[in-house]
Amino acid sequence: MSDEVNPFESLQEQIEDAAEYLEYSTDVLERLKHPERVLETTLSVEMDDGSIEVFKGFRSQFNGDRGPYKGGIRYHPQVSRDEVKALSGWMVYKCAAVNIPYGGGKGGIKVDPRNYSADEMERLTRSFAKELRPIIGEDRDIPAPDVNTGQREMNWIKDTYETLENTTEPGVITGKAIESGGSEGRTEATGRSVMLTTREAFDYLGRDIEEATVAVQGYGNAGSVAARLIDELGASVVAVSDSSGAVYNGDGLDAEAVKDHKRETGSVTGYEGADEEFGNRDLLTMDVDLLVPAALENAIDADIAEDVRADIIVEAANGPLTPAADDVMAERDVYVFPDILANAGGVTVSYFEWVQNRQRFYWDEERVNDELERVITNAFRDLVDAYESTDAETFRTAMYVVAIERVVDAAEEAGIWP
Ligand code: NAD
Repeated sequence: MSDEVNPFESLQEQIEDAAEYLEYSTDVLERLKHPERVLETTLSVEMDDGSIEVFKGFRSQFNGDRGPYKGGIRYHPQVSRDEVKALSGWMVYKCAAVNIPYGGGKGGIKVDPRNYSADEMERLTRSFAKELRPIIGEDRDIPAPDVNTGQREMNWIKDTYETLENTTEPGVITGKAIESGGSEGRTEATGRSVMLTTREAFDYLGRDIEEATVAVQGYGNAGSVAARLIDELGASVVAVSDSSGAVYNGDGLDAEAVKDHKRETGSVTGYEGADEEFGNRDLLTMDVDLLVPAALENAIDADIAEDVRADIIVEAANGPLTPAADDVMAERDVYVFPDILANAGGVTVSYFEWVQNRQRFYWDEERVNDELERVITNAFRDLVDAYESTDAETFRTAMYVVAIERVVDAAEEAGIWP
């Protein structure tokens, strides 16, 4: 895993790669590569012992040409201005790739939540929400959970916003608990779009998913659901890993049982149905048909990429391949189906949540899953059309071509205001 790659530079490189297939002037291109604005805020928060601690928070609003900014809020010690900018840009192109009417945003606080009590986290979150209040709203910017944030934090942000605005506006946040206006199907949505992308990819490439062996790196929300649903397609999930290591069974793991084991023990290692355990790097270089990276960004650098033996990669995580790793995969004819399509199920069902909130009319899970399938299969068809018509070198570049064209078309319709 490479920590040295700046994710913002990775994003810009991906846009430049796609721009080679598009005839845009420099001014248009520059706008596609930079956020419209970034809020950087310093939060002073009272600790349980009465002392004050100071935290850095960010919200990047990258591009709003296609609709309100949309994207999660991350709590992590490595949160930085550049990371938030990159993640917000990926949201723009992800929403455009699957053609939902949003721009892209992302936020974060530089904090390790494990070191703070629930009361301290609530005060920190509400303090951040107070700073965000003027720039968020269901028609302006709609945050959601990301790494180390969930329904609890979203409910605090929503409550702070609604209290200060003296209104009820559930659509200001997505990823809420069902009781607070959340959507059915949201928890599984990311893993489900990974499965749908996998199904379409195997079909397009003329490969039989029922004959496929699969390795999944990262066994959290995205990875564990993807593993179970890909298993249900008939594939054999032979290895999965988390930060403590990997487990393997040549006859296929029981994805649900591994998840139960992780829930009970905190890790996939020690699962009794495994034949073998090994390190994480070994999982990435296993001889399987499909590799699903579902942990964090930059998990596969050029060095690891040289040793990857999977034929197909479907990206559940955001930015799991460095640009150099991407080049290696292209040279070695490994097909990579990009994050902005494969993990777009999360933001797509967030969009459905927002639609339901605005209509105050709620769907059942079957409807959510049917609508999601329609969005992802349509996006896959658009990807294939672009891949074939542009002769793009990779599926990632082709997907960016589709997404960038949509963003530029919307910007041109709007024009430039002095
Ligand atoms: P999570 O925290 O639930 O799971 C992450 C998993 O990765 C954990 O099992 C962790 O142990 C494992 N992990 C961490 N470092 C690892 C390493 N070096 N090797 C192997 N495993 C490692 O997070 P998540 O919600 O599943 O998100 C995973 C990725 O998917 C992130 O990149 C996230 O941005 C992306 N994503 C998630 C969603 C969503 O709805 N959850 C949506 C879009 C994208």
